[in-house]
Amino acid sequence: MIKTKWKSIIAIWISVFLFMSFFMMFSGCQALFENSESTGTDEPEEKSSVFYLLGNDKVEGQMMGCVVQTMGGKTIVIDGGSEDALAKRQLMDFLSENANGHVDAWFFTHPHHDHIGAFHGIFSNIAGITVDKIYHNFPSLDELETYGYRNAGEMKIWKETADIFENKFAGKVQIVQPKDVFVVDEIKITVLRVYDPTMTTNFVNNSSVVYRIENDHKSFLILGDLGVQGGAELMENCSLELLQTDYTQMAHHGQGGVNQEFYAYIKPKRCIWPTPDWLWDNDNGGGFDTGPWQTVRTREWMEELGVTEHWVAKDGTQGIKF
Ligand SMILES: [Zn+2]
Repeated sequence: MIKTKWKSIIAIWISVFLFMSFFMMFSGCQALFENSESTGTDEPEEKSSVFYLLGNDKVEGQMMGCVVQTMGGKTIVIDGGSEDALAKRQLMDFLSENANGHVDAWFFTHPHHDHIGAFHGIFSNIAGITVDKIYHNFPSLDELETYGYRNAGEMKIWKETADIFENKFAGKVQIVQPKDVFVVDEIKITVLRVYDPTMTTNFVNNSSVVYRIENDHKSFLILGDLGVQGGAELMENCSLELLQTDYTQMAHHGQGGVNQEFYAYIKPKRCIWPTPDWLWDNDNGGGFDTGPWQTVRTREWMEELGVTEHWVAKDGTQGIKF
Protein backbone atom coordinates (compact mmCIF):
# COMPACT_ATOMS: atom_id res chain seq x y z
CA MET A 1 0.00 0.00 0.00
CA ILE A 2 2.71 2.39 0.99
CA LYS A 3 4.85 1.30 -1.93
CA THR A 4 2.03 2.01 -4.42
CA LYS A 5 1.44 5.45 -2.89
CA TRP A 6 5.12 6.35 -3.27
CA LYS A 7 5.10 5.06 -6.84
CA SER A 8 2.17 7.38 -7.62
CA ILE A 9 3.83 10.38 -6.02
CA ILE A 10 7.08 9.74 -7.96
CA ALA A 11 5.10 9.28 -11.19
CA ILE A 12 3.27 12.58 -10.64
CA TRP A 13 6.53 14.42 -9.96
CA ILE A 14 8.17 12.96 -13.07
CA SER A 15 5.14 14.05 -15.12
CA VAL A 16 5.27 17.56 -13.66
CA PHE A 17 9.03 17.73 -14.33
CA LEU A 18 8.62 16.58 -17.94
CA PHE A 19 5.73 18.99 -18.54
CA MET A 20 7.71 21.93 -17.10
CA SER A 21 10.75 20.98 -19.17
CA PHE A 22 8.71 21.01 -22.38
CA PHE A 23 6.97 24.21 -21.38
CA MET A 24 10.29 25.94 -20.69
CA MET A 25 11.86 24.56 -23.83
CA PHE A 26 9.27 26.23 -26.03
CA SER A 27 7.82 29.18 -24.19
CA GLY A 28 11.09 29.94 -22.45
CA CYS A 29 13.06 30.09 -25.68
CA GLN A 30 10.41 32.16 -27.29
CA ALA A 31 10.52 34.59 -24.39
CA LEU A 32 14.29 34.80 -24.79
CA PHE A 33 14.00 35.70 -28.50
CA GLU A 34 11.30 38.25 -27.78
CA ASN A 35 13.56 39.84 -25.23
CA SER A 36 16.55 40.05 -27.49
CA GLU A 37 14.41 41.41 -30.30
CA SER A 38 12.68 43.99 -28.22
CA THR A 39 15.93 45.46 -26.91
CA GLY A 40 17.25 45.90 -30.46
CA THR A 41 14.19 46.94 -32.39
CA ASP A 42 12.33 49.41 -30.17
CA GLU A 43 14.42 52.23 -31.62
CA PRO A 44 16.29 50.75 -34.59
CA GLU A 45 19.58 52.56 -35.08
CA GLU A 46 19.49 54.28 -38.44
CA LYS A 47 22.13 53.04 -40.86
CA SER A 48 24.60 55.58 -42.10
CA SER A 49 27.73 56.01 -44.14
CA VAL A 50 30.81 56.83 -42.06
CA PHE A 51 33.73 59.07 -42.96
CA TYR A 52 36.84 58.35 -40.88
CA LEU A 53 39.66 60.81 -40.49
CA LEU A 54 42.65 58.67 -39.52
CA GLY A 55 44.51 59.92 -36.48
CA ASN A 56 47.67 61.99 -36.70
CA ASP A 57 48.28 61.63 -32.98
CA LYS A 58 50.85 58.83 -32.93
CA VAL A 59 52.82 59.64 -36.07
CA GLU A 60 55.14 62.58 -35.49
CA GLY A 61 55.10 64.12 -38.97
CA GLN A 62 52.02 65.37 -40.76
CA MET A 63 50.02 62.87 -42.81
CA MET A 64 46.63 62.41 -44.36
CA GLY A 65 44.46 59.33 -44.49
CA CYS A 66 40.67 59.01 -44.69
CA VAL A 67 38.39 56.00 -45.00
CA VAL A 68 34.74 55.98 -46.04
CA GLN A 69 32.55 53.01 -45.20
CA THR A 70 29.27 52.52 -47.01
CA MET A 71 26.04 51.27 -45.52
CA GLY A 72 26.59 48.08 -47.49
CA GLY A 73 29.95 47.54 -45.82
CA LYS A 74 32.20 48.63 -48.70
CA THR A 75 35.42 50.45 -47.96
CA ILE A 76 36.92 53.45 -49.74
CA VAL A 77 40.35 54.81 -48.80
CA ILE A 78 41.62 58.29 -49.60
CA ASP A 79 45.44 58.48 -49.50
CA GLY A 80 46.21 56.56 -46.29
CA GLY A 81 49.06 58.23 -44.46
CA SER A 82 52.82 58.40 -44.39
CA GLU A 83 55.67 55.91 -44.65
CA ASP A 84 56.12 56.07 -40.85
CA ALA A 85 55.82 52.58 -39.33
CA LEU A 86 53.08 53.79 -36.98
CA ALA A 87 51.06 55.21 -39.89
CA LYS A 88 51.31 51.92 -41.79
CA ARG A 89 50.35 49.97 -38.69
CA GLN A 90 47.40 52.27 -38.03
CA LEU A 91 46.05 51.82 -41.54
CA MET A 92 46.66 48.05 -41.57
CA ASP A 93 44.96 47.64 -38.19
CA PHE A 94 42.03 49.84 -39.20
CA LEU A 95 41.44 47.88 -42.39
CA SER A 96 41.86 44.51 -40.67
CA GLU A 97 39.49 45.39 -37.85
CA ASN A 98 36.85 47.29 -39.81
CA ALA A 99 37.03 46.04 -43.38
CA ASN A 100 38.27 42.42 -43.24
CA GLY A 101 41.47 43.70 -44.82
CA HIS A 102 39.70 44.63 -48.05
CA VAL A 103 39.50 47.95 -49.87
CA ASP A 104 36.93 48.30 -52.64
CA ALA A 105 38.27 51.58 -54.01
CA TRP A 106 41.44 53.46 -53.15
CA PHE A 107 41.66 57.11 -54.26
CA PHE A 108 44.83 59.18 -54.17
CA THR A 109 45.14 62.95 -54.16
CA HIS A 110 48.85 63.36 -54.97
CA PRO A 111 52.09 61.42 -54.55
CA HIS A 112 53.78 63.13 -51.59
CA HIS A 113 55.01 60.54 -49.10
CA ASP A 114 52.74 61.72 -46.27
CA HIS A 115 49.81 60.63 -48.47
CA ILE A 116 51.07 57.59 -50.40
CA GLY A 117 53.73 56.41 -47.94
CA ALA A 118 51.49 54.01 -46.03
CA PHE A 119 50.27 52.42 -49.26
CA HIS A 120 53.83 52.17 -50.58
CA GLY A 121 55.04 50.65 -47.33
CA ILE A 122 52.22 48.14 -47.08
CA PHE A 123 52.46 46.94 -50.66
CA SER A 124 56.26 46.87 -50.77
CA ASN A 125 55.84 43.84 -48.53
CA ILE A 126 53.41 40.97 -48.40
CA ALA A 127 50.41 43.13 -47.67
CA GLY A 128 47.60 41.12 -46.13
CA ILE A 129 45.35 43.80 -47.60
CA THR A 130 43.43 43.35 -50.85
CA VAL A 131 42.33 46.18 -53.14
CA ASP A 132 39.80 45.98 -55.97
CA LYS A 133 40.58 49.26 -57.69
CA ILE A 134 42.98 52.18 -57.47
CA TYR A 135 42.26 55.69 -58.74
CA HIS A 136 44.77 58.51 -59.20
CA ASN A 137 46.19 61.00 -61.65
CA PHE A 138 49.82 61.43 -60.63
CA PRO A 139 52.20 63.42 -62.83
CA SER A 140 54.65 61.24 -64.74
CA LEU A 141 57.93 60.26 -63.10
CA ASP A 142 59.72 62.65 -65.50
CA GLU A 143 57.48 65.54 -64.46
CA LEU A 144 57.90 64.69 -60.79
CA GLU A 145 61.67 64.59 -61.18
CA THR A 146 61.78 67.86 -63.14
CA TYR A 147 59.34 69.98 -61.10
CA GLY A 148 58.86 68.18 -57.80
CA TYR A 149 62.20 66.67 -56.82
CA ARG A 150 63.10 67.12 -53.14
CA ASN A 151 65.33 64.18 -52.34
CA ALA A 152 66.46 60.78 -53.60
CA GLY A 153 64.40 58.95 -50.99
CA GLU A 154 61.15 60.47 -52.21
CA MET A 155 62.07 59.86 -55.85
CA LYS A 156 62.63 56.21 -54.93
CA ILE A 157 59.15 56.00 -53.36
CA TRP A 158 57.61 57.47 -56.53
CA LYS A 159 59.38 54.95 -58.74
CA GLU A 160 58.53 52.04 -56.49
CA THR A 161 54.89 53.11 -56.23
CA ALA A 162 54.68 53.24 -60.03
CA ASP A 163 56.12 49.69 -60.05
CA ILE A 164 53.60 48.52 -57.44
CA PHE A 165 50.74 49.94 -59.54
CA GLU A 166 52.09 48.22 -62.64
CA ASN A 167 53.04 44.87 -61.18
CA LYS A 168 50.76 44.25 -58.24
CA PHE A 169 47.65 46.01 -59.53
CA ALA A 170 47.77 45.41 -63.28
CA GLY A 171 44.36 46.17 -64.78
CA LYS A 172 43.10 47.64 -61.50
CA VAL A 173 44.46 51.18 -61.78
CA GLN A 174 42.40 53.93 -63.35
CA ILE A 175 43.69 57.40 -64.19
CA VAL A 176 40.89 59.75 -63.18
CA GLN A 177 39.75 62.72 -65.24
CA PRO A 178 37.73 65.83 -64.36
CA LYS A 179 33.99 65.13 -64.12
CA ASP A 180 34.52 61.39 -63.66
CA VAL A 181 31.92 60.00 -61.30
CA PHE A 182 32.39 56.78 -59.32
CA VAL A 183 29.64 55.12 -57.37
CA VAL A 184 30.25 52.71 -54.49
CA ASP A 185 26.94 51.69 -52.92
CA GLU A 186 25.29 54.95 -51.80
CA ILE A 187 28.52 56.96 -52.08
CA LYS A 188 29.21 59.12 -55.12
CA ILE A 189 32.73 60.38 -55.80
CA THR A 190 33.13 63.15 -58.35
CA VAL A 191 36.51 64.29 -59.68
CA LEU A 192 36.56 68.10 -59.70
CA ARG A 193 40.06 68.61 -61.10
CA VAL A 194 43.30 66.84 -61.86
CA TYR A 195 46.84 68.16 -62.23
CA ASP A 196 47.80 70.71 -64.82
CA PRO A 197 51.33 70.01 -66.16
CA THR A 198 51.89 73.73 -66.75
CA MET A 199 51.22 74.61 -63.09
CA THR A 200 54.86 74.14 -62.11
CA THR A 201 54.81 76.32 -58.99
CA ASN A 202 54.42 74.12 -55.91
CA PHE A 203 54.06 71.41 -58.51
CA VAL A 204 53.35 68.24 -56.51
CA ASN A 205 50.94 69.85 -54.03
CA ASN A 206 49.15 71.57 -56.90
CA SER A 207 48.88 68.21 -58.65
CA SER A 208 46.28 67.19 -56.04
CA VAL A 209 43.18 65.61 -57.50
CA VAL A 210 40.16 67.24 -55.85
CA TYR A 211 37.25 64.97 -55.02
CA ARG A 212 33.70 65.60 -53.92
CA ILE A 213 32.40 62.66 -51.89
CA GLU A 214 28.71 62.48 -51.02
CA ASN A 215 25.64 60.47 -50.25
CA ASP A 216 22.05 61.75 -50.33
CA HIS A 217 22.52 63.58 -47.05
CA LYS A 218 25.97 65.07 -46.78
CA SER A 219 29.00 65.97 -48.88
CA PHE A 220 32.77 66.27 -48.38
CA LEU A 221 35.33 68.27 -50.34
CA ILE A 222 38.74 66.60 -50.46
CA LEU A 223 41.40 69.11 -51.42
CA GLY A 224 44.51 67.06 -50.67
CA ASP A 225 47.45 69.46 -50.46
CA LEU A 226 46.18 71.86 -53.12
CA GLY A 227 48.03 75.18 -53.26
CA VAL A 228 46.99 78.75 -54.06
CA GLN A 229 47.27 78.26 -57.83
CA GLY A 230 45.21 75.09 -57.83
CA GLY A 231 42.59 76.83 -55.72
CA ALA A 232 42.42 79.75 -58.17
CA GLU A 233 41.99 77.27 -61.03
CA LEU A 234 39.09 75.61 -59.20
CA MET A 235 37.38 78.96 -58.57
CA GLU A 236 37.61 79.64 -62.28
CA ASN A 237 36.72 76.25 -63.74
CA CYS A 238 34.54 74.46 -61.23
CA SER A 239 31.01 75.41 -60.29
CA LEU A 240 30.62 76.85 -56.81
CA GLU A 241 27.78 74.43 -56.22
CA LEU A 242 30.17 71.47 -56.44
CA LEU A 243 32.80 73.13 -54.25
CA GLN A 244 30.37 73.91 -51.44
CA THR A 245 30.02 70.93 -49.15
CA ASP A 246 29.00 70.07 -45.61
CA TYR A 247 32.58 69.15 -44.72
CA THR A 248 35.79 70.63 -46.13
CA GLN A 249 39.15 68.90 -45.80
CA MET A 250 41.57 71.70 -45.12
CA ALA A 251 44.18 71.88 -47.87
CA HIS A 252 47.82 71.02 -47.12
CA HIS A 253 47.15 70.00 -43.51
CA GLY A 254 45.49 73.32 -42.75
CA GLN A 255 48.22 75.76 -43.74
CA GLY A 256 50.14 76.86 -46.80
CA GLY A 257 47.46 75.43 -49.09
CA VAL A 258 44.65 77.25 -50.88
CA ASN A 259 44.33 80.85 -49.70
CA GLN A 260 41.82 82.83 -47.65
CA GLU A 261 40.09 83.98 -50.83
CA PHE A 262 39.34 80.37 -51.78
CA TYR A 263 37.88 79.51 -48.38
CA ALA A 264 35.85 82.74 -48.35
CA TYR A 265 34.51 81.71 -51.76
CA ILE A 266 33.44 78.18 -50.82
CA LYS A 267 32.46 79.02 -47.22
CA PRO A 268 33.25 75.79 -45.33
CA LYS A 269 30.56 74.70 -42.88
CA ARG A 270 32.61 72.13 -40.99
CA CYS A 271 36.34 71.55 -41.24
CA ILE A 272 38.36 68.36 -41.40
CA TRP A 273 42.02 68.87 -40.55
CA PRO A 274 44.68 66.21 -41.34
CA THR A 275 46.82 68.00 -38.79
CA PRO A 276 49.01 66.86 -35.87
CA ASP A 277 49.00 68.90 -32.63
CA TRP A 278 52.29 70.77 -33.15
CA LEU A 279 51.05 71.97 -36.52
CA TRP A 280 47.57 72.76 -35.22
CA ASP A 281 49.13 75.09 -32.66
CA ASN A 282 52.05 76.17 -34.87
CA ASP A 283 54.32 75.08 -32.06
CA ASN A 284 57.94 74.45 -33.04
CA GLY A 285 58.84 73.65 -29.44
CA GLY A 286 58.59 77.21 -28.13
CA GLY A 287 54.86 77.18 -27.42
CA PHE A 288 51.66 78.29 -29.15
CA ASP A 289 52.12 80.06 -32.49
CA THR A 290 55.90 80.17 -32.32
CA GLY A 291 56.55 78.15 -35.49
CA PRO A 292 56.75 79.17 -39.15
CA TRP A 293 53.44 77.59 -40.15
CA GLN A 294 50.22 79.39 -40.96
CA THR A 295 47.75 77.06 -39.24
CA VAL A 296 46.67 79.57 -36.59
CA ARG A 297 45.91 82.08 -39.38
CA THR A 298 43.78 79.48 -41.17
CA ARG A 299 41.97 78.82 -37.89
CA GLU A 300 41.29 82.55 -37.63
CA TRP A 301 39.90 82.60 -41.18
CA MET A 302 37.53 79.78 -40.26
CA GLU A 303 36.45 81.65 -37.15
CA GLU A 304 35.70 84.70 -39.29
CA LEU A 305 33.61 82.49 -41.57
CA GLY A 306 31.66 81.27 -38.56
CA VAL A 307 32.86 77.66 -38.59
CA THR A 308 32.48 76.08 -35.17
CA GLU A 309 32.83 72.37 -35.95
CA HIS A 310 36.35 71.06 -36.41
CA TRP A 311 37.55 67.48 -36.76
CA VAL A 312 41.31 67.42 -36.20
CA ALA A 313 43.54 64.38 -36.73
CA LYS A 314 45.61 65.36 -33.66
CA ASP A 315 42.72 63.97 -31.60
CA GLY A 316 43.07 60.48 -33.08
CA THR A 317 40.95 58.55 -35.54
CA GLN A 318 37.39 59.85 -35.66
CA GLY A 319 34.31 58.67 -37.51
CA ILE A 320 31.70 61.07 -38.87
CA LYS A 321 28.34 59.46 -39.55
CA PHE A 322 26.65 61.06 -42.53
ZN1 LIG B 1 50.54 66.35 -47.23
